Amino acid sequence: MTEDLARYHRQMLLAGFGEAGQRRLLGSTAVVLGCGALGSTIADLLARAGVGHLVLIDRDFIELTNLQRQVLFDERDAAEALPKAEAAKARIARVNSQVKVTAVVDDLNSSNIERYADGADVLLDGLDNFETRYLVNDYAVKRGVPYVYGGAVGAVGTAFVVLPHTPEGTAPWERGMGENRATPCLRCLFEEAPPPGTGATCDTAGVIGSAPAIVASFQVAEALKILTGNFDRVCPTLLSFDLWLNTFQQFKVARAYEKGDCPCCKHRRFEYLDGKLGSGATTLCGRDAVQLRQRQSSTGIDLETLAERMRPLGAVTVNRYMLRAFITDHGKPYELTLFRDGRTIVKGTHEPAVARALHAKYIGS
Ligand SMILES: [Zn+2]
Repeated sequence: MTEDLARYHRQMLLAGFGEAGQRRLLGSTAVVLGCGALGSTIADLLARAGVGHLVLIDRDFIELTNLQRQVLFDERDAAEALPKAEAAKARIARVNSQVKVTAVVDDLNSSNIERYADGADVLLDGLDNFETRYLVNDYAVKRGVPYVYGGAVGAVGTAFVVLPHTPEGTAPWERGMGENRATPCLRCLFEEAPPPGTGATCDTAGVIGSAPAIVASFQVAEALKILTGNFDRVCPTLLSFDLWLNTFQQFKVARAYEKGDCPCCKHRRFEYLDGKLGSGATTLCGRDAVQLRQRQSSTGIDLETLAERMRPLGAVTVNRYMLRAFITDHGKPYELTLFRDGRTIVKGTHEPAVARALHAKYIGS
């Protein structure tokens, strides 16, 4: 064993890994989408495992309330309010200097994903909203790149590996292993995002640090299988657990592709990547406000329930037509007005990325 591989000795002992697997890791690129609780654990484990190039994408800055679960950051990072992607890069340089890290401080959207994710061997999801997940899912299916979905809120975690079907059927996971191991995609499993305001978010429902830690650890194990070519070992089921209720479940979803009529992986219509579906953010001229137009909910939004959830965060008023909440984020005051048809006006910014971030944190998708 050569000296540059010595630090990976314990990992190379694993069946199906060896020196060849380690060399494949060192030559791989993993793109980590989001650097919060999931993303920071993912980036830490991938760096220690020796994945040669990490691209870390995150739009947010570190604050004190992140430290309870975001393992790459410390009090000094929070005091300096560093961008998460940059702080993660600095920390990883001290953990494993063999790994190259590209830090991207930006809001991931349909106009930049092709640029940032170019060259990815695997995409790892540390995102906080379904709209961006569908965008990543579109990209993954279109380009035939494996995508490891993960989510955690409260004490609940969910994860699934997407090995996309390709038009020619020539991806490594589709041939040469006795059976085709391509999986359903995220839209096969969850056809539409839940209407705005119906899902819990970490900022309203809370989160215990171990839930994202488990999901992230699972995602990294799957990514290591993918990057070393062990596709026959990739978990084919949807993982779901609740640490507070002590439930661990695996759902067999393999038939969702054959049985379903997925616009993305069956018809190859990439509506999020093409910008046809999504939040349609509009800056409201002269008002220091941005309007987000989410998909219209057929049942309308339960503003009263959402108001109850948001009350601990600041003043909230609700009437038949809308909910208005006054919140403080990163020390700045904002006014969020959510209408029953799914529209939201975020006052206090003229930047669509900031408005989308606030919506994901406090209202959820
Ligand atoms: Zn699909």
